[in-house]
Amino acid sequence: MVIDAHIHLYPPSVYKTPKIWAEARGERSWLDCVAPESGPALQGWADVDQLLKDMDDAGVEKAIILGWYWENPDTCMENLAWQIEWIQTHPDRLIAYAAFNANGGTRALDMLERAFDAGLSGIGELNPPAQGYAYENEILDNAFELAANRGKSVNFHVTDPTTRDYPGKVETPFESLFSTAQRHPETTFIFAHLAGMMNLIRLKQLDNVYLDTAATPLLYSDSIYQKAIDQIGAGRILFGTDYPLRTFPKRQSIPDFTSHLNALRNCGLEADDLSKILSKNCSKIL
Ligand SMILES: [Zn+2]
Repeated sequence: MVIDAHIHLYPPSVYKTPKIWAEARGERSWLDCVAPESGPALQGWADVDQLLKDMDDAGVEKAIILGWYWENPDTCMENLAWQIEWIQTHPDRLIAYAAFNANGGTRALDMLERAFDAGLSGIGELNPPAQGYAYENEILDNAFELAANRGKSVNFHVTDPTTRDYPGKVETPFESLFSTAQRHPETTFIFAHLAGMMNLIRLKQLDNVYLDTAATPLLYSDSIYQKAIDQIGAGRILFGTDYPLRTFPKRQSIPDFTSHLNALRNCGLEADDLSKILSKNCSKIL
């Protein structure tokens, strides 16, 4: 069994004209990520039928559709409406985490309650520096308490400061990230992109922190997986792709799940570690 803990999805009304859609909502940083003005466009797109077909082709049983780290709190509400439709139409395959922006204040917290009532399983992807609020934020603290009370987890985007620059890159302050998870021991956190490979040995001290592998083929060679296992343990890593991002741009003309799965299966990991990463850890969290 395979569960992808980190994908994104948008309706065709968004990706047919991303510039018009984003500018109308003030979503400049999303636009920089998905349609950069210079450099290669790595973003692919898929509708929900294509997503399910690509999951079938790769043997991915379930996928977590993360919300984006929107700058405008109202966009989080729009994102939620798409997700509710997707998970209610395909409850056996699709799981969703709600987009959230702490600048939305108590309205944003009300939206989270609605999201959880509608069956969403967590909060994220969050990226406070890209969204215009601090990690030290009362509304954010309330959101994490709510998540813990409702048995939901939280996905944080994390940037590795040592990797090359790319469009939309925003640094993650490690100490703020670390102390946020430390302040909320009852809340389960997933630090995306292998937590930027920042200080995993210290992160291991926090039992409530997991990592995902989303987009890592763009940033590292395959030896990174064993390195991450050695530092934090296979019990703390979740398979994630960042689909429909083309994370193998040299050989992927369209997005798929198979390329990243093959890389993980063929890099010499122990079978037990691999099965934890591909599904067991994620099942435990969900
Ligand atoms: Zn991310």
